[in-house]
Amino acid sequence: MKNRKMHLYKRILVTGGAGFLGSFLCERLLKNGNDVVCVDNFYTGTKRNIVHLMENPYFELIRHDITFPLYLEVDEIFNLACPASPIHYQNDPVQTTKVNVHGSINMLGLAKRVNAKILQASTSEVYGDPSVHPQKEDYWGNVNPIGLRSCYDEGKRCAETLFFDYHRQHNLDIKVVRIFNTYGPKMHPNDGRVVSNFIIQALKGKNITVYGKGTQTRSFCYVDDMVDGLIKMMNSDEGFTGPVNIGNPEEFSIMELAHKIIVLTGSKSKIVYKALPQDDPIQRKPDITLAKKHLKWKPETGLEYGLKKTIEYFKNIV
Ligand code: NAD
Ligand code: UDP
Repeated sequence: MKNRKMHLYKRILVTGGAGFLGSFLCERLLKNGNDVVCVDNFYTGTKRNIVHLMENPYFELIRHDITFPLYLEVDEIFNLACPASPIHYQNDPVQTTKVNVHGSINMLGLAKRVNAKILQASTSEVYGDPSVHPQKEDYWGNVNPIGLRSCYDEGKRCAETLFFDYHRQHNLDIKVVRIFNTYGPKMHPNDGRVVSNFIIQALKGKNITVYGKGTQTRSFCYVDDMVDGLIKMMNSDEGFTGPVNIGNPEEFSIMELAHKIIVLTGSKSKIVYKALPQDDPIQRKPDITLAKKHLKWKPETGLEYGLKKTIEYFKNIV
């Protein structure tokens, strides 16, 4: 505590701070000596993710839905509030668009009022089902505006538009990060994402559900690497707004992932095939040249090590 007084610590707001990524981010920001306010309405997040931080006097939790205005005094805002998995964001698609549009407007308004720096957790989904591979930030994307994923994809695209308009119109200091598939301990066990689904199925000896033929690809980033990238982006040179891709460029097919998880868990599960969901992107891999150049960031955790850590976590809760 004594050292802390000597620090020029910052007051940082993390929206969606009780979610998977947000909870790791709050923890790291506190470790770095900051004052952290976590705002969450527990739509997909849970107090369990942050209960270990509650004793810390520099951590505050506010139950609030960011589609309604919020008045706080902070120096920086990480805007992460939004359900991230297809099952959750398609459960109430109107609310998904609202959190991205109304929620972003409220957080941008807050940033403008208190002159705070604000980072948007955008997504590789802004590229849709990409016809350019790997995806670079200057690719405009291939998004279906009326499909089941549009509430999320178009919501996040509109949020990016709002961020850049607040930057141009009000000179706001913005940072936009396009997050690619991220995994790790504390993923929601029922959110249907591929890493958590496969691990839980493998640990329970149930069938591993591969959608389509399993030839579609994703690039999986371990959560610690993602948190490093988000913080480096927030602290990057003024004037560097992004958008910047943060993700692991090692690309795997979903079938390869299934086999890896079967081997690492020593499971006897069999692979079964299910229908491919609508508009499921065929391939995804970030080009991270920009992040390397501007943030001196690259992922440090290989898939096998990250999966082992994640499997350990799920062994304790399954
Ligand atoms: P998550 O669902 O675990 O966390 C989202 C958090 O936001 C939850 O705690 C939820 O309760 C909260 N929330 C939702 N609506 C809210 C509202 N209206 N007001 C306040 N809080 C609200 O998801 P995550 O994986 O931690 O993702 C965090 C952010 O990163 C999201 O914006 C997501 O779109 C983005 N992202 C994540 C990934 C990934 O692979 N995890 C990939 C791309 C982008
Ligand atoms: N997927 C799968 N089986 C599952 C869950 C997902 O084959 O049990 C596939 C899904 O169709 C997609 C990929 O895994 O091609 C990643 O899905 P996820 O929901 O994790 O993320 P996103 O599609 O948003 O990248």
